[in-house]
Amino acid sequence: MKRVIVIGAGPAGSAAAMSLAKFSDIEVLLLDKATFPRRKVCGSGLSPWTLELLDEMGVGSIIRKEVYPIKAGIIGGVGGTAVELRSEYEAAVLLRSRFDTLLAYEAARRGAKLTEGVRVQELIRENGRLLGVKTNQGEIEADAVIVCSGSASKLAQAKRPGTTLRALMGWYEGVAGISDAVEIYFDPVVKPYYGWVFPETKNRVNIGICYNPNIGDLNAKQRFEAFIENRLAQRVKYANRIDYLMGHPIAITHKPTALVQSGTLIAGEAGNLVDPATAEGIHTALASGIIAGEFLGSRLEQGYLPTFENLSPYTKLIRQKIGPRLMAGNAFLQVAKTPILDFALRFGSFKPVKNVLNWALTGA
Ligand SMILES: Cc1cc2nc3c(=O)[nH]c(=O)nc-3n(C[C@H](O)[C@H](O)[C@H](O)COP(=O)(O)OP(=O)(O)OC[C@H]3O[C@@H](n4cnc5c(N)ncnc54)[C@H](O)[C@@H]3O)c2cc1C
Repeated sequence: MKRVIVIGAGPAGSAAAMSLAKFSDIEVLLLDKATFPRRKVCGSGLSPWTLELLDEMGVGSIIRKEVYPIKAGIIGGVGGTAVELRSEYEAAVLLRSRFDTLLAYEAARRGAKLTEGVRVQELIRENGRLLGVKTNQGEIEADAVIVCSGSASKLAQAKRPGTTLRALMGWYEGVAGISDAVEIYFDPVVKPYYGWVFPETKNRVNIGICYNPNIGDLNAKQRFEAFIENRLAQRVKYANRIDYLMGHPIAITHKPTALVQSGTLIAGEAGNLVDPATAEGIHTALASGIIAGEFLGSRLEQGYLPTFENLSPYTKLIRQKIGPRLMAGNAFLQVAKTPILDFALRFGSFKPVKNVLNWALTGA
């Protein structure tokens, strides 16, 4: 019996654990420093392709029972009125504390040993070979690990091309004009990134901004306040903010790199696998987790030692399967840096422009 430790039970870790649990000769330990339900600073938006992937994983029906369904996107540029894009494709919002709990418990139901409240402090290696992990509760031996510990992770660090964006968000009740649409505004205080309003229930929304800290000189709170003032002042007049504003880094790339170390694969945001334009990371976390679990499981089953050489095709697999989406995101980001996006949004009510925007932003 081989043992694989999956570090982190976010979407990447739970997907990896579910894939590994299909191999009968592998014991899967899924460790998380938090206890579920735990908070995750996130817009909690599930795109049409994320819902599709959840269906393929066999968890779509569990998730769909609890989501707030999204039928449209309202997109605004600098100036002009925002464009409403209605799509036949279904999207959704489900608070991450609930979404991640459902996935982690499903991984446990399928055979992974989920242990909460265990923080992995470092990977133990001897002469370059992985022996296991050191945790706040002692050492655990393993044949291999999959690192899925997210953007702030110090485990399995490596030089990876990419940028670390910043986000600041809060939850509100009583915001006027909430519908079945997610709202995205390419506001000057955050451009080429955006601020958003994502409805989680009929009465609760999350509002946030995502920006590149190297562009512009306002701090996070100043940008957030300016965004609210520019876009939502009237609508939040009688709203209550629930809890504090919360910040979080977002690690993006358009070129997946350095995802393998001896005895180790890296999936999800720990490997910067987040769309460089939209900061969408749940889909890439799930997809990379599945690829990591399937690839590692079949290598171990075929009797390969988990050396760097034997595991290195994983990076190529990620580039093939996830790379095109990240590259497309990067192409969109380059457009968002120019006046083209604002120009298109200004004329967004014209059908041909609307069709192109729909394709670029919602995949429809
Ligand atoms: C403000 C904000 C809004 C966003 N909005 C969206 C959105 O609407 N839609 C979307 O698709 N993406 C969104 N993203 C991106 C998305 O949240 C992430 O890309 C996604 O959560 C990455 O999943 P993951 O499994 O790789 O990591 P995470 O979800 O970060 O999970 C990592 C897990 O590892 C655990 N962990 C960390 N360190 C250790 C350790 N040392 N030992 C044990 N456990 C550990 C953590 O407790 C956590 O459970 C947003 C991000 C931010 C910051």
